[in-house]
Amino acid sequence: MKVNLAESILDKVDFSNYDDWEIYPEAQYTCGCGESVFFNFRHFRKHSRSEFSNLRHEDVLEIENVINDMVRTETNSFLDFYCPGCKRPVRFYYLSWAGGRHGEYGYRIKYVVDNTKNWKAILNLLKIIIRKIFRFS
Ligand SMILES: [Zn+2]
Repeated sequence: MKVNLAESILDKVDFSNYDDWEIYPEAQYTCGCGESVFFNFRHFRKHSRSEFSNLRHEDVLEIENVINDMVRTETNSFLDFYCPGCKRPVRFYYLSWAGGRHGEYGYRIKYVVDNTKNWKAILNLLKIIIRKIFRFS
């Protein structure tokens, strides 16, 4: 199990009731096995600040064993599932927030915990690093 930056894995990490429909657009998670799972605003609202897990207890323990203080302090919600392809457990850690524009609320996915080789994540992480180097040089 490892903690990944959500932005290195998902094309969409921000959801707001101002900018997103209930079920569209979606964040796409693609597992190393090739299977994709899609999540929308409604999924994140449903699990917001909930303690409910879709995983078996031993998988929850494995995930909670690898998360660090950053994950604990920067997020207040999670959503987890088994990849429909290879049955590996995956958990998104996200922040449920309210404020900004009047009556606005939403979710920011910050970390993804999984145990698959995600080549897209590795490529995206390189892109993020390169972008940061050029921004600060
Ligand atoms: Zn899979």
